[in-house]
Amino acid sequence: MIVNPETISKVIKQQIKSYSSQLDFSEAGTVIQVGDGIAHIHGLYSAMSGELLEFPNGVYGMALNLDEDTIGAVIMGPDAGIKEGDPVKLTGRMAEVPVGDAMVGRIVNALGEPIDGKGPIAADGYRRIENAAPSVIMRREVNEPLQTGIKAIDALVPIGKGQRELIIGDRQTGKTALAVDTIINQKGKDVYCVYVAIGQKASTIARITKVLNETGAMDYTTVVLSTASDPSPLQYLAPYAGCAIAEEWMYRGKDVLIVYDDLSKHAVAYRAISLLLRRPPGREAYPGDIFYLHSRLLERAACLNEEYGGGTMTALPIVETQEGDISAYIPTNVISITDGQIYLESDLFNHGVRPAINPGFSVSRVGGSAQIPAMKKLAGPLRIEYAQYKELAAFSQFGSDLSQDTLERLNHGERIVEVLKQPQYRPMPVEDQILILYALNNKHLDDIDVGRVLKFERDFLKYVDTHAPEIKAQIRETGELSEDIAEALDQLIAEVKKEYNYTREVPA
Ligand code: ATP
Ligand code: MG
Repeated sequence: MIVNPETISKVIKQQIKSYSSQLDFSEAGTVIQVGDGIAHIHGLYSAMSGELLEFPNGVYGMALNLDEDTIGAVIMGPDAGIKEGDPVKLTGRMAEVPVGDAMVGRIVNALGEPIDGKGPIAADGYRRIENAAPSVIMRREVNEPLQTGIKAIDALVPIGKGQRELIIGDRQTGKTALAVDTIINQKGKDVYCVYVAIGQKASTIARITKVLNETGAMDYTTVVLSTASDPSPLQYLAPYAGCAIAEEWMYRGKDVLIVYDDLSKHAVAYRAISLLLRRPPGREAYPGDIFYLHSRLLERAACLNEEYGGGTMTALPIVETQEGDISAYIPTNVISITDGQIYLESDLFNHGVRPAINPGFSVSRVGGSAQIPAMKKLAGPLRIEYAQYKELAAFSQFGSDLSQDTLERLNHGERIVEVLKQPQYRPMPVEDQILILYALNNKHLDDIDVGRVLKFERDFLKYVDTHAPEIKAQIRETGELSEDIAEALDQLIAEVKKEYNYTREVPA
């Protein structure tokens, strides 16, 4: 083959001409070890902690360990195509998710990518998933109620907008049910909701999204998903991604409710990452920064003052306990971070007391300031009478001759337990709750069979709706239970009892 020097020089000249002056300049490193969703990379000396890294085939990773010669990174996607010697680039970016009203009604993964088959998200902007929590000066006191629609919670452990209330209990005690009912109850209340599922079974998530769709809750809700089969890094990122989406609305002055279901699985995912990154294990093999993992997440929930828009973010983290042990590592951590906890018990659940809330162990550190006046007035005596009943019930198991007073208290306590029962997916408006609690507190239920108490509740509420609809409207508007209303209610209760034949013999 004869090579013409002219042709060669022409080719070279042409190549120089078409050589782009825009160089893609970035620091590159090399994969030296990869496996289990973790890569160790040589080079990349200027990497930032938490920076996004680009692997071949468009897979992204995140730098977590910055050592002297190598960095340890988690791979956010399939690691099967990545091999030793592959180049890795710095992107100069932190992980971000799309935010804004386009997120409403969507189901996204931990990276903010839609997975509901409804096409791409036209987001107004992006927000880093890790952000500093609002400072003390930006906050104000929590004093507005967030109605959960669950009688036992709204009366005994009220939640305020901007509060962090932990839902804690063993497996299958109705933790998710409480959170989902609270989301359903925000319908028409101008509250954005974010439900973050961490490491849950795909079937559970499918059931929850179906319920949210059927009840119309998806009109104001965003779901952030990481299933049990997702790699641990995605499970680790999901709550922060959900928090960033919620935060955007809060800073725009809106009210937001976010549910983290659940943080025990989040801690487990983080433990897996930490151990694979060879970070030293501590108690229960969790790494040393496990407290910071949750505190920096939950501190981002806040009640902002007017100067900063007055938005709020209420967080309902969920933690699963083993055999009711709330003194294990993760439960104690999260209990100390949050402003109270709702403690669910399998014993109560199995005895048909659902929601299985144990009022003795449940507290809300915001308390009465997050209740409307009428509810506050009813809740005080209710709490005391319930506590007295619990004590008496435990103690009277052994005694046979009980005083009349004790019998009455036991009798009343049984009705308290009964009234606080509530089926799933049936949140109750606060004015309805006030009506039935009024009847309960004023001993109007004490002469009704325990088994018929919930039926009486339905009949009574329906009766008020048809015969005196103005009562509910008045309570809703004023938030108070005036003398006049009280009198009218006494009258109505007597009528219902008579009409539906509720009265029975009081035990002597
Ligand atoms: P897991 O530990 O699996 O996450 P969980 O504590 O979140 O469980 P749920 O899944 O909410 O519990 O509820 C467990 C079961 O109890 C479900 O079948 C649910 O339908 C039922 N359940 C929950 N709350 C109630 C209720 N108030 N009334 C009747 N059934 C309920
Ligand atoms: Mg659950």
